[in-house]
Amino acid sequence: EVLIEAREVEKRYPNGTLALKGVSLAINRGEVVCIIGPSGSGKSTLLRTLNALESISSGEILMDGISVHAAKTDLNALRTHAGMVFQQFNLFPHMTALENIMLAPVEVLKLPAAQARSRAEALLAKVGLADKAGNRPAQLSGGQQQRVAIARALAMQPRVMLFDEPTSALDPEKVGEVLDVMKDLAAEGMTMVVVTHEMGFARAVADRVLFMDRGELVYQDAPEAFFTSA
Ligand code: ADP
Ligand code: ADP
Repeated sequence: EVLIEAREVEKRYPNGTLALKGVSLAINRGEVVCIIGPSGSGKSTLLRTLNALESISSGEILMDGISVHAAKTDLNALRTHAGMVFQQFNLFPHMTALENIMLAPVEVLKLPAAQARSRAEALLAKVGLADKAGNRPAQLSGGQQQRVAIARALAMQPRVMLFDEPTSALDPEKVGEVLDVMKDLAAEGMTMVVVTHEMGFARAVADRVLFMDRGELVYQDAPEAFFTSA
């Protein structure tokens, strides 16, 4: 069952850079897809077009059958369905870990505070940070902040999780704790699209690897095929 479909997507930035050329792909529910490729090849642009953080110049993207870039599409509803985790963790610095996770469920989903709190506490436990609920981001290591960011995205109960180089800003010894949380999510059947340079993760966890080069999706296959054919 296809959850995300891109048809002949082209993206030209206002300065003229053609970042995506004729990109077509389909991602099934429950699938884990890793996007790899050289710097500047369009990986991040592609990921950000999937939840309309970036507009497209032509083509179409469907998420759960909804045309992402159509003028009538409710972007807030759309982004509720697609949780996003960035390279820079983007937590609110003046809020605790718990408050960061509770915010959108209260503000956007209008969950009662008590319910949002218990959801946030459960998610903190899930990412191994039950004892850090009261810490602000500055009181957490980078790996811990990124795990809070993942919990914050999960608090919206998204249908898909989009990760943009989630471990690239981390000290090497903190990478594993974030990848472990992502592996757990994959094992639970979460649909995931992951831009990453972590080839070990792609090989072990991805159902499919997409290789981007100069704005084109030049190759896609199961990781076994991918990593032996190179
Ligand atoms: P990757 O994630 O593979 O490193 P990006 O999607 O970030 O690639 O970038 C693809 C191309 O688009 C690059 O040539 C980059 O310089 C360009 N680009 C990215 N963002 C912008 C922007 N906001 N304005 C203009 N060009 C951009
Ligand atoms: P790392 O080397 O993991 O980046 P730190 O030495 O910064 O870690 O922190 C180690 C532990 O102490 C972490 O669990 C972190 O949450 C906690 N910690 C760091 N700074 C503070 C602080 N100012 N207040 C409370 N806890 C902190």
